[in-house]
Amino acid sequence: MKNNLLSRLSLVLTFFAAISIAIVGQQTQTTPSAERLREHVSYLASDKLEGRRTGTAGANQAAEYIAREFARYGLRRSNGRDLAGMSRLEADSPKRYLQEFPYVAGVELGKINRLLLSAAAGPAQPVVGEDWMPLGFSSNGEIQKAQYVFVGYGITAAELKYDSYTPEVKDKIAIALSGTPDGDNPHGQFTRYEAPHWKAIAARNAGAKALIVIARETNFKDDRLSTLRYDNSAGDGGLPVAVISRQLAAKLFALSGNDLSALVDAAKEPVKESAPPSAKAKGLLLVKPGATLSLAIDIHRHGVVAHNVIGILDGSDPTLKNEVVIIGAHYDHLGHGGAGSLAVREGEIHHGADDNASGTAGVLELARLLSEARPRPRRTLVFIAFSGEEEGLLGSNYYVNHPIVPLANTVAMINMDMIGRLKDRNLIVGGVGTAEGWRAMVEARNQLDSMTVTATAGTGPSASSISYPTVVASNGRPIVTSDSAKRFTLTLNEDGFGPSDHSSFYMKKIPVLFFWTGTHEDYHKPSDTADKINYDGEVSILNLVSRLLHDIDLSDARPTYTVAKTESTGRATGFRVYLGTIPNYAESNDGLLLDGVRDDSPAAKAGLKAGDKVVKLAGRDLRNVYDYTYALGEMKAGQEYDVEVLRGGERLKFKITPAAKK
Ligand SMILES: [Zn+2]
Repeated sequence: MKNNLLSRLSLVLTFFAAISIAIVGQQTQTTPSAERLREHVSYLASDKLEGRRTGTAGANQAAEYIAREFARYGLRRSNGRDLAGMSRLEADSPKRYLQEFPYVAGVELGKINRLLLSAAAGPAQPVVGEDWMPLGFSSNGEIQKAQYVFVGYGITAAELKYDSYTPEVKDKIAIALSGTPDGDNPHGQFTRYEAPHWKAIAARNAGAKALIVIARETNFKDDRLSTLRYDNSAGDGGLPVAVISRQLAAKLFALSGNDLSALVDAAKEPVKESAPPSAKAKGLLLVKPGATLSLAIDIHRHGVVAHNVIGILDGSDPTLKNEVVIIGAHYDHLGHGGAGSLAVREGEIHHGADDNASGTAGVLELARLLSEARPRPRRTLVFIAFSGEEEGLLGSNYYVNHPIVPLANTVAMINMDMIGRLKDRNLIVGGVGTAEGWRAMVEARNQLDSMTVTATAGTGPSASSISYPTVVASNGRPIVTSDSAKRFTLTLNEDGFGPSDHSSFYMKKIPVLFFWTGTHEDYHKPSDTADKINYDGEVSILNLVSRLLHDIDLSDARPTYTVAKTESTGRATGFRVYLGTIPNYAESNDGLLLDGVRDDSPAAKAGLKAGDKVVKLAGRDLRNVYDYTYALGEMKAGQEYDVEVLRGGERLKFKITPAAKK
């Protein structure tokens, strides 16, 4: 009771301190407008922009719309070298707000795609698109008359004592089933080995020349894999990979006197603990000598340019203006569906009103308000609308590796992703553990904004009933009431990692705050439309955000970065070991770049550093983050492994001992 009263009192005192500052500074700041938010969201989520899939015309129109708004508010364009074709553009062109980054918009079949069965298989040879299809992450290549081998599910899972491969697979074409021995169980022990990516890595590690996956659906064209598409966070698999129809698979195995359904049954059998290592290879079947396959894969991934939109509001303080707070939201969405979509049917426009036209509109409204605020914020504010978020935080990842202001001067990043569905005042704020005092700051601000002060008499400016940021006399008898209807019910998460762009900044040790009204049944579906947005709710969230920005700006000291408790929602979870590396998720084919290394982690103790490129881990060659994750899955806590990195042109070897994951 006492404690409660005390803290209540100190809160009131803080409140008056804030008010007196407000008197001195005489802040003029209008509030966010629900009508403007509605306009922005309605345009961005309209059919015209076709779901704003990164790299499409709709996304480019959205970028231009945001750039024009930035220009209207008088935000400055960067003069960094990174921005799109700067020299060719008029000085006042809105395009100067665009930061380009490379993006693979699609993948197409080239001319030479062949799959030939050597043995007499009838006159009809398989037709690409009808009987088989290369996968989008496949390497190009040609393999002449190679032996092929059935490898069950094509999974190597050391911790499950399961391996589809034996040394016999070397230099042969591996043919694997889709899926896992778990069947349709989405939470089975093998779930994380299901993606064709993992199977390709397992095949490559086993020395196979190529991997062929057997379609899951009886009708080939119904199979997800039968449509050629590319995942931008995937890179190149490092060997040719294709999917074939079940009918073609049956024919292939009939050539060696085998029945596909019998093979499938054999692959499903559980592994016996006592079995000798060679017998643990499930369903491994060498096809009789003489039966061979020839395979040629020729696909073209075509790159386009994607854009982050960046506008700058210079700070008013001669010194503090060198420090930057970033206010961001992604504006891209899922287009007509495809990867990431939860729609039942493909092809419909995914409007992405909440995800994330709402956050984009929030960035625009904050940019407008803060550019009008007098006095201006002391620190420089950089407003960024990111693209490529849905494909794996590509735009924010590009930004943190090509920042327009040095990251060392970037003191905080505020991210808004899906803030349009406020319900029952429930608001999620992530990242409160990433800077000292942020949890308290957010909680106090939420309390303060719900208070109304009533003064009975006064000598200074007074009013009978006023709420923040208006001013009250000090010698009256102010009555402070708290209006719970104005308060948010906050869910505060410590973690700076999460499924949105703030992760890219936290990886660079920048304090972050992430605002989110939670998921809903229209999430990643065409039905996420502008009419379902709670615009008044979003106004109240933006009020909270702008006051928090003000709180951050009032302090002369920049926020102090702290290592937050990691909650189990991040990527690459489910592993039993922990290294403390912070991998870069951008595409790569020649090693895994480390964005950072956590203090006191196994990686730090091993001697790894930010900027290292890991090329070998626990005996596995690493080309990208997938190989890395795969290797991680095979490692045991407390055991020592070799790790090799490239650092400044040198190849260095270290010993690393993973810790057990808590
Ligand atoms: Zn999304």
